[in-house]
Amino acid sequence: PYTGPSAAEILKKRQEYLSPSLFHFYSNPLNSVDGKMQYLFDENGRRYLDAFGGIATVCCGHCHPDVVEAIVSQTQRLQHSTVLYLNHAIAEFAEALASKMPGDLKVVFFTNSGTEANELAMMIARLYTGCHDIISLRNAYHGNAAATMSATAQCNYKFNVVQTGVHHALNPDQYRGVFGSDGLKYAKDVQDLIDYGTCGNVAGFLAEAIQGVGGILELAPGYLPAVYGTIKKAGGLCIADEVQSGFARTGSHFWGFEAHGVVPDIVTMAKGIGNGVPIGAVVTTPEIAKVLTYRTYFNTFGGNPVSTASGLAVLRVIEKEKLQENAHVVGSYLKDRLTSLKEKHEIIGDVRGRGLMLGVELVTDRQLKTPAKVETLHVMDKMKEMGVLIGKGGFYGNVFRITPPLCFTKEDAGWFSFPFSSTLYSPSFPPFANSAFVLLHDCRFPSGCDGLHDVKDVKKK
Ligand code: PMP
Repeated sequence: PYTGPSAAEILKKRQEYLSPSLFHFYSNPLNSVDGKMQYLFDENGRRYLDAFGGIATVCCGHCHPDVVEAIVSQTQRLQHSTVLYLNHAIAEFAEALASKMPGDLKVVFFTNSGTEANELAMMIARLYTGCHDIISLRNAYHGNAAATMSATAQCNYKFNVVQTGVHHALNPDQYRGVFGSDGLKYAKDVQDLIDYGTCGNVAGFLAEAIQGVGGILELAPGYLPAVYGTIKKAGGLCIADEVQSGFARTGSHFWGFEAHGVVPDIVTMAKGIGNGVPIGAVVTTPEIAKVLTYRTYFNTFGGNPVSTASGLAVLRVIEKEKLQENAHVVGSYLKDRLTSLKEKHEIIGDVRGRGLMLGVELVTDRQLKTPAKVETLHVMDKMKEMGVLIGKGGFYGNVFRITPPLCFTKEDAGWFSFPFSSTLYSPSFPPFANSAFVLLHDCRFPSGCDGLHDVKDVKKK
């Protein structure tokens, strides 16, 4: 049994010793003590179905035995910097990763996070093309360092520090976007940005195939092929940010961009690829990779033995346990169930996504698409009380993000749907008249950070 500090004690220490910008979910934050596959356990041993952890950290399940074994045996043998000597783990993982890539994408640079991966990808594009301008999409999240904060396009995540050289194109958002699902119309905006905002040439284009933090928004069909053509003509490189949509999550494909029939010049990834161990990667072609030989480029721990041993174990588990197929089968089943809930619950404005990367957007008025922010928080809290953890995001913080570990089963999907539906039916709905919550939405962030947030510390107004 757990003998560590209580949730209240941890919270107190956090408030005293940790960054004041740290946020947590829930009015009574969860003290996550143990993890096993698709479950988390609190200090009392209570089990929660984790329908969000897949993106945040875990691809094949919390503490998957094969991954734990790989991490432990590599740690017992050697953990060191990547840079100085040869080691088999990095070489084997790079080779395995390259084998999952289309075209000539086979040179891997390892980093420690998604931010670092996107920073590096943007720098490579700038060096290779000799241009500075990059186009990303409104509503995107790509990281929080200098270049990636520029590429990120939600005010919640942008601080008032120098950010240059990124133009934000109209988001091909099929639910709220001005052109609905007409990808070609949105694509025209990229040409306009190039024509009116740059010298005519650009370094590149950076986008997720399905915006994660942005609220599980799959880019309108036809958009990416058209934009990739436009960018190529302007001399730029196309970068696919697969930090959330990669590694079999979308079920139909291993990488999110594949569903759009494009082949990027650079692919970035992180989060679940090490099943919780910090690791990110940039994959590109040998020709493009050469630009980093003009100077010395290294990363002390990017691709270290333990992280890459973990990454390799993850790839093997995905294959051995057919997790991509599982994401497709279970994800389609769950999406159907959620879509049928939409017929019953007026508050569900949209159900979307692919595989085990699903989103449910709550609105108080289907015509006006008024974001149901408070209700979203309420449902999240109630679901936790009923033993199910769910994420949220979107610019308005009103989109549930359902991104479980890829070992999620149909039974889990059924179990998930029950509290979800019953919470939406709850007689106490809408619940917040005398709420003990202070919504971050109302005091600091319009949408909240990465969906991980929002009920800051419980305070009575
Ligand atoms: N790209 C995407 C699509 C992301 O969702 C995130 C993190 N939310 C990042 C990049 C940045 O990753 P990290 O937090 O590991 O720096």
